[in-house]
Amino acid sequence: MRGSCLCGTITYEASQLDSPIRHCACRTCRKAHSAAFNTSASVRQEHFKWLSGAELLSSFESSPGKRRYFCSRCGSQMVAQRADSGLFVLRVATLDDDPGQTPQSRIWGSHDVPWLAHGADLPVYPQWGPDHR
Ligand SMILES: [Zn+2]
Ligand SMILES: [Zn+2]
Repeated sequence: MRGSCLCGTITYEASQLDSPIRHCACRTCRKAHSAAFNTSASVRQEHFKWLSGAELLSSFESSPGKRRYFCSRCGSQMVAQRADSGLFVLRVATLDDDPGQTPQSRIWGSHDVPWLAHGADLPVYPQWGPDHR
């Protein structure tokens, strides 16, 4: 399966996911992604390759030994990696293909923000909602 950043410069291929998909609501994911939670899955290094644009990756060490890699042109968060872990923690929302599975858990629930709603009971509009300006 393939994925890309918002501007399309950085692309990658993952031959499989090596962990279940999970949502992480930890404070650092929330800030890094500017979102209520980040959806991720681990991919072993041998199952992952950059196809284009890897030279545009920038990174931020969000906790000791853990770097979050993002596109320096458009800001998309792509993967996180702990030094020597042998794993990429893939940002599943950058996938352009369906991974064929759905999230199995939410982690760091202790960091949930009070305005977080998980949405099964929210109305769904095919595009913009009635409050769009
Ligand atoms: Zn980009
Ligand atoms: Zn997190």
